[in-house]
Parts: sequence; structure tokens; C-alpha cells
Amino acid sequence: MKKVLIIGGGFAGLNLAKKLSKSSGHEVILVDQHNYHFFPPLLYQVATAFIEPSNISYPFRKLFQQKGIRFFMGKLEEIFPKEKKILTDNGELNYDVLVLGMGAETNYFGNNEISKYALPMKTIEDAVEMRNHILLQLEKAVRAREFDEKIRLSNIVIAGGGPTGVELAGMMAEMGRNILSKDYPEANFKMGKIFLIDGLDTLLAPMSKKSQGEAIKVLRDLGVEVLLGTLVEGYDGRNVALSDGTMIESATLIWASGVMGRSVKGVPNDQIGKGRRILVDENNKIEGLDDVYVIGDQCLQLTDKKFPNGHPQLAQVAIQQGSLLGENLIGSVQGKTMKPFIYNDKGSMAIISKFKAVVDLPKGFFKGFFAWLVWLFIHIIPIAGFRNKVKLAFNWLWSFLTNDPTLRLIIRPGIKDLNNDDGG
Ligand SMILES: Cc1cc2nc3c(=O)[nH]c(=O)nc-3n(C[C@H](O)[C@H](O)[C@H](O)COP(=O)(O)OP(=O)(O)OC[C@H]3O[C@@H](n4cnc5c(N)ncnc54)[C@H](O)[C@@H]3O)c2cc1C
Repeated sequence: MKKVLIIGGGFAGLNLAKKLSKSSGHEVILVDQHNYHFFPPLLYQVATAFIEPSNISYPFRKLFQQKGIRFFMGKLEEIFPKEKKILTDNGELNYDVLVLGMGAETNYFGNNEISKYALPMKTIEDAVEMRNHILLQLEKAVRAREFDEKIRLSNIVIAGGGPTGVELAGMMAEMGRNILSKDYPEANFKMGKIFLIDGLDTLLAPMSKKSQGEAIKVLRDLGVEVLLGTLVEGYDGRNVALSDGTMIESATLIWASGVMGRSVKGVPNDQIGKGRRILVDENNKIEGLDDVYVIGDQCLQLTDKKFPNGHPQLAQVAIQQGSLLGENLIGSVQGKTMKPFIYNDKGSMAIISKFKAVVDLPKGFFKGFFAWLVWLFIHIIPIAGFRNKVKLAFNWLWSFLTNDPTLRLIIRPGIKDLNNDDGG
């Protein structure tokens, strides 16, 4: 039995683990810093209090029941390729084959001030923190005496006009329209604005021109201030400084602007490529290291002819790389040659607002209500667990019909210090 350690149970790691679980020649241990798998494309709905965190997350131990995959909760700290072992915050593990699938993290491009005060959108914790922060600012806005202060507290600035920025802006604008006057009847003031800012001259840059145009139009119709060709250059917690010299007073800056691969101590520096992604060959192996592979957002593969600068950091790439590496590892035990990874691009989509989405397929584009239905359908299929799918479908139906979900709760971590030093 070959012992395979998979670090990270995102789309890439989970698909690899599932594939390998069918092999009698492999012992599979999945290591993750969290005890649950989650679905990032719907984080923005958690951040806007539209769905619950549990709708898009699922415990690894429940997922792996009777599947022959073991789970180890721990945060990777370093790898030791020569000794074939890793160090986590919960101890050491050794391996025959090591696979890194730890994804990407927020890139503030070295701006410490922005990293200190802006809200990121990468994890469930980020989404819940964003929800709490926005609801708290609205409570403060209601109590504030000065008009300017009310506006500052209720202004929301989103940096980054990719799918996450577009989806957040659309959802927040809808909520502003449908919910605020009902929830805050005493406010009796005009709330602030939603600003969506991007350095390029368009939104949804990787999508088609038609999708980009539709996103800009729909968001502007909803009242979102879309500022293009403009960079967010600074933020001190009160004022957002833009590259054209403008200042926007806002208690909220959401950073949806950039990502970089998670760094791993022990990976040679000459194997780190653009966007801090780890360079891999056509089989996702790190050259020069024995039996160490990287899959998903964390890797940079330059061998696929259609993607000479590397693949986009998307769920489908991670899923397909995880599955192929699983097949290849099983095949290699049987003496077969590994197949190179070639990405099968099935298209991309983004939701803009209620009943409106855009879909780019390899051979066409469509938008509107049908695109929105397709988006919902496509995003419910990969959600882990049948009950989660049903709960999510019900929550969507309820929220879209009533325009008034009931999740606007400010729940913050407890402050009691249990002084628990037994590894908990
Ligand atoms: C807000 C948002 C919206 C998105 N929307 C879309 C979309 O609409 N369509 C699309 O295709 N893609 C979307 N993406 C991108 C997509 O989610 C990623 O491409 C995909 O998740 C990559 O999968 P992965 O397995 O490589 O990494 P991830 O899914 O990020 O998984 C990484 C795993 O590694 C674990 N981990 C990290 N560090 C450590 C450590 N030190 N030790 C142990 N475990 C660790 C994490 O806990 C996590 O479970 C979105 C991403 C975000 C953040």
C-alpha cells in the first residue's frame, strides 16, 4: 500500500481523494486546517446573509464515512521532501506520495494598510465576518446623528470587478432595495452607495465582451457606481483613496481584487512561478522532488498548449486535475504511463442580480432569466450532501420569493478564554 497524503480538501484534493478511495493499492489521508469542505462560489451569498454557512459546507469525517479515506485535522507548516515527511501544527506525518492542494489566498499586493482594514472574501470565516461587519455598520448608521457619518457607515466599496465583486455588488444592491427600508424603518435617511471599482476598463475581464457589457448595464441600472480604469490605492479604515485622486468615505472596503498561491516552506524557490503558484510538469509533479505533486489553484502548469500562461484559477480546473492525478497514481501502480493534463473548458458564468446572469459557452453566449436558472442548477449540483442540496434549494426559493431571508444575525465568536492547550 502506498501512503498518499493530500494537503487541502478543496475541489482538487477532494476529487483526488475520492478517485484514490477506489484503489486497493493506496492508503489515503486528507489533511486540512478546517474540519469541513466548503463551496467558495457561494460565499458571497453567506456574506450577504442570503444563505447559511452550513448550506455550503460539509464535515470531512461525515463525507468520508465508509469511503476508506482518513482525515487529519492540521495546518501544514513545512514539507521535508528528502525525509518524505511533513510538519503540521498538530504533529508530523510521513508519506510515499505527497499532494498539495491548498488553494490560493488574498493578495493585497504588498499594501499593508489595505490588508489591515479591508475585508477579504476567501473563507467561510471571511464571509461571516463580512456579514457581521456590514450589519454592525448599519446599526451604527441608524444611531449616528450626522448625515455625513450615516453615509460613511452605509457606503460599501468593493475593489475588484471579477465574478466575486460583481456578484457581491448585485446582491447588496438588491438587498438595499428590498430589505433596508423594512428592517430599519427608523433610519429615515438615504443610505450610502455601493461602489464597484476595477483597474481594467471592464468588469468580468476573463468573460466575453457581451457578458461584460451586460454586467455593467445591469449593475448601473441597480444603482451601483461602477468605476473602471481606476485602482484602489489606500484605505485607513475611513477613507478609500483611488488612483484618480478621489477619496470615498466608507466604513467598508471589500477586497476581491487578487489572489496568490499559498506558500509552502520546503518547496524550492526556483519552483515558484507567477502569482506565487508552484510550477508543475504536465503530470502536476514538482520537478526535482520525488513524489511531490501540486493540483488546483496552488499550481502553475505551463504545458497545456491552449493555456501557455497557466490555467485560470477555477473550480473546474481543480476538479479535473484532482481526478486525473487520481487515475494516474492508480495507473502508475499498475505500471502504466501517466497521461498529461489537458483542461476541458466547459465555459464560465456569473450571476449579476436576481433573475439575471450571464453564461459564456465555448460556442455561444446567453443571458437573463434562463442564464440565471442555469447558474442556480449548475451551482447546486456540486454542493456536498443531499440534505445540503435540498436545504439550499429551499432557502433560495424562500429568499427569492419573499425578498426577505431571515439570516441577518450578528453572531460573533465568544470572548471566554478556555485556556485550552491540549491541541484543541
Ligand atoms: C469567493 C469566491 C468565488 C469563486 N467563484 C467561483 C466560480 O463562480 N466559479 C469557479 O469556477 N471558481 C470560483 N472560485 C474559484 C474556486 O473556488 C477555486 O478555483 C477552487 O476552489 C480551487 O480549488 P482548490 O482545491 O485548488 O483550492 P480550495 O478550494 O481553495 O481548497 C484549499 C483547501 O486547502 C486547505 N488549506 C489551505 N491552507 C492549508 C494549510 N496550511 N494546511 C492544511 N490545509 C490548508 C483549505 O482549508 C481548503 O480546504 C471562487 C473563489 C472564491 C474565493
